[in-house]
Formats: sequence, structure tokens, C-alpha cells
Amino acid sequence: MTMPALPDPDASRLDDLDQAALHRSLLARVEAAWQLCRELHPSLPRPAVWLDLRGKCAGQAHFARGGLRFNPVLLAENRVAFLVEVVPHEMAHWLVHHLEDGPRARPHGHEWQTVMRRLFGLEPRTTHRFDTGRASPAPYRYRCACREHAFTARRHSLARRGRGYRCRHCAETLVYLGCHAS
Ligand SMILES: [Zn+2]
Ligand SMILES: [Zn+2]
Repeated sequence: MTMPALPDPDASRLDDLDQAALHRSLLARVEAAWQLCRELHPSLPRPAVWLDLRGKCAGQAHFARGGLRFNPVLLAENRVAFLVEVVPHEMAHWLVHHLEDGPRARPHGHEWQTVMRRLFGLEPRTTHRFDTGRASPAPYRYRCACREHAFTARRHSLARRGRGYRCRHCAETLVYLGCHAS
């Protein structure tokens, strides 16, 4: 039996927020999740927060940059689910990474699942239950040496099945960024 460790957001209030207020709500949720993690790991550094993710990926823990990235389009379209699921999901990655063996743990492995269950009282799901269809017609982000590329679902599935795509500018093979490309 698990209990939600963060309070449920007020859905009707969230729906009325303008963009700036919604972003403040996200920051407050990140702060609350971080405070909860510090009960377990008092020296956990405070993550920086950026609202600069695009495409299909809702959130990303970016260890090299030292913080969490979130997708403002998906936040605006899925307000409650975003605060309830995505913020703890990424904060759990942040916490696990800073545990002693964290950098060697699998992204959604035992340690991450335990944090999701025990600390946040959530089922450790790796996908979020909201519609990503409206965010972009080419929601899959790929990277080469020089820039980011946006793939449609069709191109993405061809790439997943082994077709290699090269950048016309730098000629490097494109690599899928996914949500854990930190
Ligand atoms: Zn994840
Ligand atoms: Zn390139």
C-alpha cells in the first residue's frame, strides 16, 4: 500500500492558469519533489529547471547541464498528469543519479522504481498517459554533430528498424535523443 507523497494538484485551478502562472506551478512542484528527495538524501543538489524540451519527450534529467528539462507544450496540454507524473519521474532520475551507485543504474531499473513507489507513492510507469499527437507533426528528435533534427513517426519507425539517416550538413549518422539522452 502506497500513499501519494505530494499533494494532488487542484485540477480546476490549474486549468485557469495563464502560461506564466502554470510555469510557476511547475517550479513549485519541482521544489516540493526536491524537498521530499532531500529527506532521503540531504545533500542532493537542487536541479536547475528549463522549459526547453520539444517534441514527444515530456521531461528529461540532464546530468551534464545539471538539471531537469520539461516540455512546455505538453505541460500546457496535460497539466494535472504533468505535475503528478512527469515531475516525480524526472526527479526520481535526478535522485538515483546522485546516489552512490546511481550513475551505473539502469534508467528505469530497480532503484528508480523504488523511489517512485516508496518516496512518491506512484506506480513506476515509463510512459506518460497523455496525448502527444498535437505537440508536433514531427515529434521525434534526433541529433548529429551540428544540430537537432525532427522526425515524423514514420521516419522514426524506419530508423528504429535499422535504416540509417545522415545529416546533409555534417554527414554524421543521426542518433535518436529519446528522453534520457543526458
Ligand atoms: Zn525516465
Ligand atoms: Zn549535422
